[in-house]
Amino acid sequence: MAEVTLKNVCKIYPGNVKAVDDVNLQIKDREFVVLVGPSGCGKSTTLRMIAGLEEISGGTISIGDRIVNDVPPKDRDIAMVFQNYALYPHMTVYENMAFGLKLRKFKKADIDKRVQEAADILGIKDYLHRRPKALSGGQRQRVAVGRAIVRKPEAFLFDEPLSNLDAKMRVQMRTEISKLHTRLETTMIYVTHDQVEAMTMADRIVVMKDGLVQQVGSPLNIYDNPANLFVASFIGTPPMNFFRGRMTKEGDKLVFKEEFFKLQMPPEWKGSLSPYMDKDVVFGARPEDIGSPEAENRAGMPKIKATVEVIEPMGAETYLYLNTGAQSFISRVDAHRKVSVGDKVELSVLMPKSHVFDAGSEKLIV
Ligand code: ADP
Repeated sequence: MAEVTLKNVCKIYPGNVKAVDDVNLQIKDREFVVLVGPSGCGKSTTLRMIAGLEEISGGTISIGDRIVNDVPPKDRDIAMVFQNYALYPHMTVYENMAFGLKLRKFKKADIDKRVQEAADILGIKDYLHRRPKALSGGQRQRVAVGRAIVRKPEAFLFDEPLSNLDAKMRVQMRTEISKLHTRLETTMIYVTHDQVEAMTMADRIVVMKDGLVQQVGSPLNIYDNPANLFVASFIGTPPMNFFRGRMTKEGDKLVFKEEFFKLQMPPEWKGSLSPYMDKDVVFGARPEDIGSPEAENRAGMPKIKATVEVIEPMGAETYLYLNTGAQSFISRVDAHRKVSVGDKVELSVLMPKSHVFDAGSEKLIV
């Protein structure tokens, strides 16, 4: 168990590719932190630098109270689980799990105890004498995790471990890894491009883009208060709707004006929005905050007029794909709302949950 600290960490690949740019992170002992972002954002490079598989171009990485910049991977006391399992095909499950301990000269009885314990935790006791090729993808991934568990490392690093599994197995393994974290009480750092994995598993999420950390926070904190347009669009499915328009004043009221609709801003936003008077801004509202039962039932909410283009019943709710005349957006409405394609509808916007972003810097204003 250990804290993992990154201070001003950079990675510049040959050819001056800045893959990771001045990352500062303090991952607490026993914390489950997920690094998430689109392909190429630098999340794997960051993880590989923590593991020692990639040299650090600048800054320091500490595990516990030891700076590990120059410590080889095998001496860092961490275990890594990869996307492609990397199991030895000619060894049984038991031998695959025992191999790392054998290399480290553990006693046979100790190895056996650790392998049996890990197999028990992961529910793979019945497969210990099979070869990897006789296992399903999910079972192989369990063996890969087992191989990490037997080491009893200070921290676990996961690099997209579920990417090769089918959708159903991914959901199952997701909950298994969460349970494992609770049971082992060890620091876990997990890399994924899948924001659902990040939301469902993390104590804290680190959102990255172009080598830069965009925001660090708990899943709900990031979902409710995204720092900028990128985070707002990356976290959440369907993503947040964005409307480009202008902040204007009508009497003493602040009004957001799109080409075809306008929305009165809550008076408590006045302080934050006054510097944006007559400037272009982006209004953001999540699909569940436009036309949802909660929005429709709240008194005094302003409305957006739009035309229904596509209806997708999901069972518990219905997704409407709409157009204001200028911009498209998605709304999650009551499954039993009577609506047809081509209808012109007015949908309430839940203002306390909505946001305004600076159109230039793309940062959150309110
Ligand atoms: P992610 O894991 O978020 O998909 P990576 O950390 O793998 O991103 O890569 C970050 C950036 O560094 C990308 O632009 C990628 O092309 C580049 N990169 C990764 N590995 C190398 C390498 N060995 N040499 C040069 N550039 C690399």
